[in-house]
Amino acid sequence: MNIAVKIYVAGIVQGVGFRPFIYNIAKRNKLVGQIYNNSKGVIIEAEGEKINVDKLIFAIKNEAPPLASIRELETEFINSTGLNDFFIKESKLAEDKLTLISPDISVCDDCLEELKNPEDRRFEYPFINCTNCGPRYTIIKDVPYDRPQTTMNVFQMCPECKKEYENPDNRRFHAQPIACKKCGPTLMLKDNKGKIISSENLIKKAVSLIKQGFILAIKGLGGYHLACDAQNTIAVRNLRKRKLRIDKPFAVMIPSIEWLDKLCIYTPKEKELLTDIRRPIVLIKRKKDCPVAVDVAPQNNYIGLMLPYTPLHKLIMESYNVPLVMTSANISEEPIAYQDDDAFERLKNIADYFLIHDREVYIRCDDSVAAVLGNKKTILRRARGYVPTPVELPFNVEKQVLAVGAHLKNTFCFLKNKYAFISHHIGDLENLPTMKSFKQGILHFKKIFDLNPELIVHDLHPDYLSTKYALDKKDCNKVAVQHHHAHIVSCMVENNLNEKVIGVAFDGTGLGTDGNIWGGEFLIADYFSFERFAHFEYFALPGGELAIKQPWRTAYSILYKLYNFNNGEISKERFDFLKDKNYEIVSRMLEKNINSPLTSAAGRLFDAVSALCDIRTEVNYEAQAAIELQMIADEKEKGSYKFDIINNNETNKVSFAKMISGIINDLKSDIPKSKISAKFHNTIARVILETAKLIHKQRGINKVILSGGVFQNSLLCDKTLTLLKKNNFEVFTHSNVPPNDGGISLGQAVIGYFKHFKNQRY
Ligand code: ZN
Ligand code: ZN
Ligand code: FE
Repeated sequence: MNIAVKIYVAGIVQGVGFRPFIYNIAKRNKLVGQIYNNSKGVIIEAEGEKINVDKLIFAIKNEAPPLASIRELETEFINSTGLNDFFIKESKLAEDKLTLISPDISVCDDCLEELKNPEDRRFEYPFINCTNCGPRYTIIKDVPYDRPQTTMNVFQMCPECKKEYENPDNRRFHAQPIACKKCGPTLMLKDNKGKIISSENLIKKAVSLIKQGFILAIKGLGGYHLACDAQNTIAVRNLRKRKLRIDKPFAVMIPSIEWLDKLCIYTPKEKELLTDIRRPIVLIKRKKDCPVAVDVAPQNNYIGLMLPYTPLHKLIMESYNVPLVMTSANISEEPIAYQDDDAFERLKNIADYFLIHDREVYIRCDDSVAAVLGNKKTILRRARGYVPTPVELPFNVEKQVLAVGAHLKNTFCFLKNKYAFISHHIGDLENLPTMKSFKQGILHFKKIFDLNPELIVHDLHPDYLSTKYALDKKDCNKVAVQHHHAHIVSCMVENNLNEKVIGVAFDGTGLGTDGNIWGGEFLIADYFSFERFAHFEYFALPGGELAIKQPWRTAYSILYKLYNFNNGEISKERFDFLKDKNYEIVSRMLEKNINSPLTSAAGRLFDAVSALCDIRTEVNYEAQAAIELQMIADEKEKGSYKFDIINNNETNKVSFAKMISGIINDLKSDIPKSKISAKFHNTIARVILETAKLIHKQRGINKVILSGGVFQNSLLCDKTLTLLKKNNFEVFTHSNVPPNDGGISLGQAVIGYFKHFKNQRY
């Protein structure tokens, strides 16, 4: 029996080899008809034996190419296709252009084989790619995704490439970045004066420079990296000095997965994450004798590893075969360099040489960072390989929304239909270049996803640059959302939860509704609103921002509050961490209450305990004190300190007075700091359990959400999950959206949408 159908397929189906895939099945099964792109994906018209049409539909559902992601599939019967063969129809500009764009994908095995085959015409060609791999998001200027709309438009395909591009049987059929040695991008090596260095083999030359200890700027997929030999301590130290980066860990690229065994102690999940097609940087525990310079990640038991993901990386790594530092090319916290002229200006005092190419990066995109937390793969920085794949919403939105995100680790987020389009990691909105990148990103997303939001959502904090950006927009509705509420909702959304939950939001900072800095919060929350059920008791941050950089100030402030230093109850001279510190100034600040904002932030408590134990009294990167406190913890220690949950009518307060005196006693009795750190972590986990129990008892809620940057602490995360689960709580954590402030924009968008457009409950 002959039938004819029209099949609508939505999802990531453009630029991923979907059309040739369909074409080949249709041909094999003697179907006639056509396939073409439309605004939402592709439309297939197919006519032939029913059994063969069924085979086609089965194949779409079960055998689609690796990069395709089918989100919707609808079939309707039609009379006839009116065609006598099967055709691929050229794409036309669609009216409502919501097409999902593929992220950049690591070089595939087929391409790698050709790369290594001396007989192949792309042998050792650093820009080899195909329909299943290569650059996408970072080269797309507009949609539909066709070569003229990408930065490959300046390269004229040679006849051989053109033939492959046009042949539906070829694995490069319609691979937009298709290129070869004759017609595609080329490599170039120059020194930091701009002098071009010629060589038979530029890769070998570049590698020999790395071997000699030089620092290279290497242009990659979403921007530049700074690279040096990870085993060469002097080179690594040089890089730190020039990049103005004292201790913050560097990422390391390993030549192949075999190196994982040499460097790290890992779980199967960590290995899976590392070999994931999206190739994130993965934080994995390093071995004691890990053959990588200690200076790569000082005072850290973890190391951020990634595998080569472009053919260029592959060629470099194979030629040298040792791990390389591959860190984002920027100076301290500025955005990663990606445009050639700008990169040269910014990096010429850091890099000795530049290995670059002439394929333009249209939109910058950092490496993504991930880790296994609580036995779950968790993204910590969502960028290359992940963006712009949207997060699917558990509901449909009728109106479009833009949320401008948090101040640190900014991302923005658009809601459209049933998708949340979260931007790539933008960075800390503290300098002009980052702000520029933020604005460019918003414009780009608007263009490629045809977005026109009717509502703009921002943080409560009036001084954030993102808030100012939002408030400057005319003719648009605005909603302000509290930071920790946004954390909780972002985690709810990715876990498909739409009900009242116990929200545990622990982080370093976020403006509260009372004007204080929150961050040790127990919220009862849903998409509309929250109630602050409990929080960590406030303590002062003498010097404000300065206390964040100098945690000893916070530690001192906590002691000051608990003890009367003047009556000799406790002597401040006895504290090691106060040696060489000008604490008298801090005393006066606290006494007169000058520039000492109040905070309940868990992150600041971790800092303070780290300083109190004299582990880290001043930091040079975010969360350093807390990280170093975690790193020394004796994971076998089961003990904990006392604490109180004090109820005084409105909200409950967690008092750590007893814990602090417990720590001081332990310090006095020379209990190892590894034990103190572990007991502190255990205490925080117990605080979460006891507060959750209290909420459960009073409100009957059983679902607990853990969100906020503090839950990137794997030790705390594991301990808390174990305790809560043992006590029959259902616990939800992040996976697809970062627990840190990179996840805020999603929560903001959803809360804003519900507050503004759905102000009555359903
Ligand atoms: Zn490929
Ligand atoms: Zn060519
Ligand atoms: Fe936060």
